[in-house]
Amino acid sequence: MSTSQMPRTVASQITNLPPTAELQARDARHHLHPFTHAAGLAEKGARIITRAEGCWLTDSEGNTILDAMAGLWCVNVGYGRQELVEAAARQMAELPFYNTFFQTTHVPAIELSERLAELAPEHMNRVFFAGSGSEANDTNIRMVRTYWDLKGQPERVNIISRWNAYHGSSVGSGSLGGMKGMHAQGGMPIPGIHHIDQPNWWAEGGDMSPEDFGRARAQALEEKILELGPDTVAAFIAEPVQGAGGVIVPPESYWPEVSRIVEKYGILLIADEVICGFGRTGNWFGSETMGIRPDIMTIAKGLSSGYQPIGGSIVSDEVAEVIGGAEFNHGYTYSGHPVACAVALENLRILDEEGIVTRVRTETGPYLKQKFESLTEHPLVGEAKIVGMMGSIALTPDKASRAAFAADAGTVGYLCRERCFANNLVMRHVGDRMIVSPPLVISKAEIDTLIERAWRSLDEAMAEAEAQGLMKPAAA
Ligand SMILES: *Cc1c(COP(=O)(O)O)cnc(C)c1O
Repeated sequence: MSTSQMPRTVASQITNLPPTAELQARDARHHLHPFTHAAGLAEKGARIITRAEGCWLTDSEGNTILDAMAGLWCVNVGYGRQELVEAAARQMAELPFYNTFFQTTHVPAIELSERLAELAPEHMNRVFFAGSGSEANDTNIRMVRTYWDLKGQPERVNIISRWNAYHGSSVGSGSLGGMKGMHAQGGMPIPGIHHIDQPNWWAEGGDMSPEDFGRARAQALEEKILELGPDTVAAFIAEPVQGAGGVIVPPESYWPEVSRIVEKYGILLIADEVICGFGRTGNWFGSETMGIRPDIMTIAKGLSSGYQPIGGSIVSDEVAEVIGGAEFNHGYTYSGHPVACAVALENLRILDEEGIVTRVRTETGPYLKQKFESLTEHPLVGEAKIVGMMGSIALTPDKASRAAFAADAGTVGYLCRERCFANNLVMRHVGDRMIVSPPLVISKAEIDTLIERAWRSLDEAMAEAEAQGLMKPAAA
């Protein structure tokens, strides 16, 4: 059954909404939005999304919008899946909540952890649940430090991450992330977190070939390990493909060299699979796609296709065994929440039984790649990078020199994003990169629509950038 044939969700039955302007005013009065300049938004008014089906959103003005971001990289099976609604309702009726702290468990947590162990690489068979990706990465900070403590190496506390990584927004996970704007607010990073440069060849590769650059950026990890002292390093954390940083696909030389280094120094590798997991890259995990052997994988987002908040850490047998040797003084009220677990389990069934992950790898992913890469023929677009169903294009005033714009980073990107919105396409901008991460169920016809609308938006953005005198390269 195609998603367009699915029964309508409850949300679609809510009619007679108050006028948009009234909702916007009430929103502005009482609702503080994440990652938002509140006063600026209040002036403009938030767009109000009222329902969704498949890859399509509807707003309070009746526009239908192609969601090329799958919500926030999470609605992998698309909107409106009645099976997920029913899985939640069934579980709520039977057991809406029970904790997993005090020597108790329940069937949804048992079944979901078992299923995740089946899907994960062979050496990973245990799951610690959390309510989100941020929480799971906080778990990971404490878990890797506790691991080394229990192994008799308590001085191994340093965790190395990368600039422009995104690992969440709690104090711990935000510290792991490499977003300087986030660090500037609220006293981050916490002690013991160190950042190395990212493998972003387009922006930072200079005269090097992508492969030389990828190797050099991996070797920055070895340099950092030696600088800190190899006996003080607990772990390296990275997204197989950076997502929120702008879908930065590393050169092929990068991960093999990183793998060699973490192995050489015996440090733990945490693969943050929050975006890459559950089919996004065409395999169950981005680690498979990139050929990585992690000790811990962070999961969230596509785990439940966003229908319920849930995250977790999938842990290797070796780490689980060591951690299991003492009491781990850590947990969240909603660790292994039964409703979230039941929905995640049903979501995994859909991804598997409908062949969605396989289709991304063999059919729709390659189709999107071919179309998406054709955007480099547009005069505003430098490179296009895509793995499975996560991709980005770099906007540039001069392709040959890979120049940035003279204007502040993100000025032209924002302009382009606004044109996309006006053309009923949700595409995000990160600086002057435009990114896509559509629901994995997107059809070839919908991919065509995505590319048409993106092209039109690029045309309009470029005309506007020219009119505003923004097509000037920054001084080299
Ligand atoms: C979104 C994201 C997180 C944080 O997940 P939340 O559920 O928002 O806390 C962590 N890591 C990566 C790679 C993400 O994209």
